Amino acid sequence: MSVLRFDNVSKQYPSGQNALSEVSFAVEAGEMLFVTGHSGAGKSTLLKLIHLSERPSRGTVLFAERNLGKVRGSRVALHRRDVGVVFQDHRLLGDRSVADNVGLPLLLRGLRRSDIARRVTATLEKVGLGARARALPSQLSAGEQQRVGIARAIVVEPALLVADEPTGNLDPTLSAEIMALFESLPERGTSVLVASHDLALVKRMKKRVLVLDQGRLVDDISPLELAE
Ligand code: ADP
Ligand code: ADP
Repeated sequence: MSVLRFDNVSKQYPSGQNALSEVSFAVEAGEMLFVTGHSGAGKSTLLKLIHLSERPSRGTVLFAERNLGKVRGSRVALHRRDVGVVFQDHRLLGDRSVADNVGLPLLLRGLRRSDIARRVTATLEKVGLGARARALPSQLSAGEQQRVGIARAIVVEPALLVADEPTGNLDPTLSAEIMALFESLPERGTSVLVASHDLALVKRMKKRVLVLDQGRLVDDISPLELAE
């Protein structure tokens, strides 16, 4: 079953800019893939349509058989609970500990404190930050902060994780660490869609790659093609 499907999706901003033109693709459960292209190609717009920060002008976006065009009002927040989002700039709360930042999505869902503590601990272990639970974000390195952002996105065990330039501010070593972490998620049932303009990094991963050029999906490269 596809976790995500775009059918002939176009997005035109009110300014008249055609950010996406008739884009179609499907993502299977447990798949990891990249979307790449130059700045302005439409990568962020594609991700925004998935977490409903933007709406398509034409075409259909299906998430787990849910037609996102029909998701309105309070259901938007419910939908966002099923999609983990990782931002380049982390968006961590500076005055809360690492553990509190990661636990926030669970607190918002009304989980009991003991359950939250257990899941936060397990998730911080998973991203290699078990020893940093009580630190404040400002006390962490850039790579650690990004891992906190990832922990916060995966603590709810979303069906899909989307990441917009997650390694944009990191050096190559840290970028590779973050990518290895993403790569481990499909094993746990989370599909992963990463937007990156860093073609060298994307190629090294040997995953499926969607290539956008001026809003058009011009290539859909399978891992086999990259294995050569
Ligand atoms: P990318 O993430 O690949 O850099 P974007 O999706 O951010 O691309 O942008 C695609 C195109 O849409 C660009 O031409 C950009 O200027 C335009 N665009 C993005 N967001 C908006 C907006 N809110 N209003 C108008 N135009 C926008
Ligand atoms: P911009 O228009 O520059 O993207 P916004 O503040 O609207 O500024 O959004 C910043 C980023 O955060 C965008 O990528 C947007 O899609 C995303 N975003 C905003 N609100 C949410 C939310 N509740 N859940 C997930 N992503 C969100």
